[in-house]
Amino acid sequence: MGVKMQLTNKSKQVDRKPMTFLESLYLWNIAKGMMITLKHFFRKKPTIQYPEQQRPFSKVFRGLHILNRDEEGRERCTACGLCAVACPAEAITMEAAERENGEEHLYREEKYAAKYEINMLRCIFCGYCEEACPKDAIYLSETFAPANYGRTGFIYKKQDLLIPNPVEDPEGYKKALGDKAKQ
Ligand code: SF4
Ligand code: SF4
Repeated sequence: MGVKMQLTNKSKQVDRKPMTFLESLYLWNIAKGMMITLKHFFRKKPTIQYPEQQRPFSKVFRGLHILNRDEEGRERCTACGLCAVACPAEAITMEAAERENGEEHLYREEKYAAKYEINMLRCIFCGYCEEACPKDAIYLSETFAPANYGRTGFIYKKQDLLIPNPVEDPEGYKKALGDKAKQ
């Protein structure tokens, strides 16, 4: 006869004895269930009143992307494509354009991203795009993409991702920069 092997000690013998009359009324089991409910009344609630209340994020939290500007308000991105290549979810697409004369105050380099999109439904918030960027042009902020009813609402375009201009809106810029401002 083979030896019965047990992988864990979690298995329990099922008691198949017929129920007594008292047991078949389930009164004791109902009382036991109510006691458990009652016990939870006096415990600290694990739920919070979101969105009025919010939990603090972890220090390493990676949220929605921000396309960064320099201190003069010029877009840092040169549309080199390194972030798109590094992205394991293929969530980033862009189109490059040449900077024209007179646009030096808008774009830091001679090439810029005329179109830059991130599909937040594909993104896994790994942060590889931030690591790959040689121009400090993209980073993951402390906010997250809000809920939406349609898929197209999750395709974030350049105007959705660009940080406020530090010259025109220094407060908005500082707020969007968040922890990055302290580095
Ligand atoms: S965070 Fe990761 S998945 Fe999301 S766009 Fe960047 S590289 Fe792609
Ligand atoms: S965000 Fe950075 S890595 Fe991506 S295209 Fe722009 S400059 Fe290149």
